[in-house]
Amino acid sequence: MQELKDMVKLNKQPQTHTIPHKTTGICRLQTSTQKIIERYDDGEKLVFNAIYRDDSIRQALMVQVQNNKCCYCEKMIYDDFEVDHYRPKEAVIHNGQLENPGYYWLSYDWDNLLYSCNKCNKKKGNDFPIEDEAVRARNHNMDINDESPQILNPCIQDPDDFLEFIGLEIVAKSGKNFDTATKTIETIELDRHELFQLRIEKYFELKIYVHDIYELAKEDDVLEKEARIICTNYLDSKIQSDQEFSMMVKCNYESLKPNLIAV
Ligand SMILES: [Zn+2]
Repeated sequence: MQELKDMVKLNKQPQTHTIPHKTTGICRLQTSTQKIIERYDDGEKLVFNAIYRDDSIRQALMVQVQNNKCCYCEKMIYDDFEVDHYRPKEAVIHNGQLENPGYYWLSYDWDNLLYSCNKCNKKKGNDFPIEDEAVRARNHNMDINDESPQILNPCIQDPDDFLEFIGLEIVAKSGKNFDTATKTIETIELDRHELFQLRIEKYFELKIYVHDIYELAKEDDVLEKEARIICTNYLDSKIQSDQEFSMMVKCNYESLKPNLIAV
């Protein structure tokens, strides 16, 4: 089995390599960033435009980087997607209270933009827990690098170092990342029932495919050998990073395979 990295790790290239340099691309992101910072400095009400929803950015990020999957739960997203600001743009929740402003200066920052399903986006909302509230960046003059976020960022960190599946249950890995992993699961509700249902459907889809092929081939030595190859290739294809719920499939790889395919 190929070793792969999952929630999955996203290979997000610098924006200059990715978004076309035209009116709907980087220039507008940069201009909008300048404008929102100017409004803050002038003490004006912060008003956000939605250019991060433009097709060129969606194509560059959701399609090319994320393979049309939610960056958090790995569900395929088609129409039900949201632009997720890793650091929330409008407000931040602190001690259960909504505090303004949020990370307004990162509203159009390529590194802060992700695509998620609408449920993950809604669950995460303005929650952005960090280890030490005292160092939270409150405006564009402060440094976000002083913060230690407790939400996993799949563009920077490798989800495989944080999360795993035991059966169909997503859990935090023990070790130094345990607290951040636990907070990520809690905040986004990666263990919510809707996802459990979808994962179990995926699990059975694969299990039945392997089972049916093996059943058809088991009386014939030659066919059985071919069936092993077909099933192994099939399962290997389902743990690729562009596949829905690839982390769950990878963690369950052996349980999908060994009872049906003698090694
Ligand atoms: Zn999601």
